[in-house]
Amino acid sequence: MAEHLLKILIIGDGNVGKSSFVHRYVNGQFNKMYKMTVGVDFSVKLLQWTDKEKVRLQLWDVAGQERFISMTRIYYKGALGCVMMFDVGSLSSFLSCRLWKQDLDNKAMLPNGASIPCILLANKADLAERAVSSENIDSFSRANGFVTWMETSVKENRNVGESMRRLVQEILMV
Ligand code: GDP
Repeated sequence: MAEHLLKILIIGDGNVGKSSFVHRYVNGQFNKMYKMTVGVDFSVKLLQWTDKEKVRLQLWDVAGQERFISMTRIYYKGALGCVMMFDVGSLSSFLSCRLWKQDLDNKAMLPNGASIPCILLANKADLAERAVSSENIDSFSRANGFVTWMETSVKENRNVGESMRRLVQEILMV
């Protein structure tokens, strides 16, 4: 049985739903030790990908960042994929995605020099009040080289597993 170990970054402004997303997806397997060392939490999720392949996901959440900050290279080192999240009810969290993506592309590279696959998640899609239109998200996603974008609602458990599967699919194709 082959096992792939994939380090995935979860980035975006504070309060958009990142830790809720990870918690929902992983069902509470946390590695608290790591937080003390590097200041970042990571959680682990094991997937049976095919009959012959397992995928061990290490999800690194930028816990405690209110707004965009340039992250240390240690955080990006060895990452093979990225989930970038904003809140559809918060225009500023969407605008920050440009900065997060620039920082990511500057610091996280695949061994061949390509930028790492990143999926854009428009979270809190259950909210009636939208600050960002689908058209804006779509053109931003295309212009900035995201794998794709999806609406999610961690609250209603909408597109949580689906978005992660889409990202893993993209990573394993590379
Ligand atoms: P983080 O700072 O990005 O890790 O965000 P949190 O996971 O702490 O979530 C911030 C707040 O948003 C919390 O009160 C969550 O309960 C709430 N939240 C997270 N996801 C959703 C969602 O899909 N819909 C709604 N309505 N609230 C959400």
